[in-house]
Amino acid sequence: MDLKSIENIVSLCKRRGFIFQSSEIYGGIGSTWDYGPLGTEMKKRIKDDWWQSIVTKRSNVVGMDSSILMHPKVWEASGHVSNFHDPMVDCKKCKSRYRSDHINLEKPCKKCGNTDWTEPRQFNLMFQTTIGPINEEGNITYLRPETAQGIFVNFNNVQTTARQKIPFGIAQIGKAFRNEITTGNFLFRTREFEQMEMEYFIHPDESSRWLDFWNQERLDWFLRLGIKKNKLRLRAHGKDELAHYSSACYDVEYEFPFGWSELEGIADRGTYDLDQHNEFTKKKLSYFDPKTNRRFTPAVVETSAGVDRTFLTCLVDAYTEEEVRGENRTLLKLSPKIAPTTCAVFPLVNKNGLPELAEKIVEETRKQFSSFFDQGGSIGRRYRRQDEAGTPFGVTVDHETIENGTVTLRERDSMKQIRISQDKICEAINEKIIS
Ligand code: ATP
Repeated sequence: MDLKSIENIVSLCKRRGFIFQSSEIYGGIGSTWDYGPLGTEMKKRIKDDWWQSIVTKRSNVVGMDSSILMHPKVWEASGHVSNFHDPMVDCKKCKSRYRSDHINLEKPCKKCGNTDWTEPRQFNLMFQTTIGPINEEGNITYLRPETAQGIFVNFNNVQTTARQKIPFGIAQIGKAFRNEITTGNFLFRTREFEQMEMEYFIHPDESSRWLDFWNQERLDWFLRLGIKKNKLRLRAHGKDELAHYSSACYDVEYEFPFGWSELEGIADRGTYDLDQHNEFTKKKLSYFDPKTNRRFTPAVVETSAGVDRTFLTCLVDAYTEEEVRGENRTLLKLSPKIAPTTCAVFPLVNKNGLPELAEKIVEETRKQFSSFFDQGGSIGRRYRRQDEAGTPFGVTVDHETIENGTVTLRERDSMKQIRISQDKICEAINEKIIS
């Protein structure tokens, strides 16, 4: 897949209602995207699947939902005020702005070919805002640049109310904001995005064991979403990439058309965050171990994934152009787990009671999964639309349905069709989803 395919994916997303440019009727606003009906469904399924695998299925991980605005001191304690910087350079001729660690300053500017750069300077990525109507220093705070700090500051509240014993995790999904110097590659790098984060609190002697455990769990999750194995890898951070408090960090990476890039960071953060909040607040964010009768500050293994990057990865991985019997077709080979529509139902012709029958089937199948009725255009066109929307199953109602109650069930990827009784549609689809 080449970079052109990203453009094709952007236009498919618009055509089918996955993603629209934000404020499009006003000319749009850079690198900001709105999820349409299909995109919203798919994004929700990704988040639900993450929540299911991290929280619902584990008795020692609980969820929370902290606010976006927090006390400004949180960001001093976390180190974001002093350290959450990226180095920025400007091309002196055309004024284009870049992250200096993302380009080679020996090479000319991509836009104008000039090699006269400003000195790199540090730019803080946090979005500043004011609380209340008066713009004074005391009112300044930030839109959170990560969801994690909302978990750390609530450590005591959650641990005591959920009565969790170490090792245990706290997870949340929510928006984060970063005033990135350069955005781009569609949903890959935006200024407003969602994260799915979990902080796993452990005994400090056990960090490396839990880091290995979560590396494997998280890689497996991406595989279970149906992403191709040969396009995924786990990369250990080099010593020069590690934060001073972190002794090890891994990225789950995907091979995008623009190169291997991070989907999720899995980090041993030691006791850094709780220590910092302890120091700034003088409150004891710590754990009393009933086995040893001793209190200690737990260490943390963090898993931090981007919802939108996962969404983009699923699209890029599923996007397929192929030739079938001399005709081109474009399809999204999405896993039925995350496909926005599970089944589309078509009347072969719009007469003889077939549309009414098809609508009844939609109503029935909707009790189990998302089902969509489409009677517009030729049957071939309707299949093509659903292929592009990633709908894994198509049911066609025809004159035989009236005669003997059977329909055709078509699979998106193989295009194989079988004839089954209309009462068996849900059973057959559920069986295929599981297998
Ligand atoms: P990068 O090096 O790509 O800027 P990062 O190492 O700063 O990412 P983390 O702070 O580890 O990212 O954030 C965890 C996850 O949040 C990332 O793996 C990514 O999926 C997501 N994420 C971070 N920044 C953005 C962004 N600007 N747009 C979309 N997703 C993002």
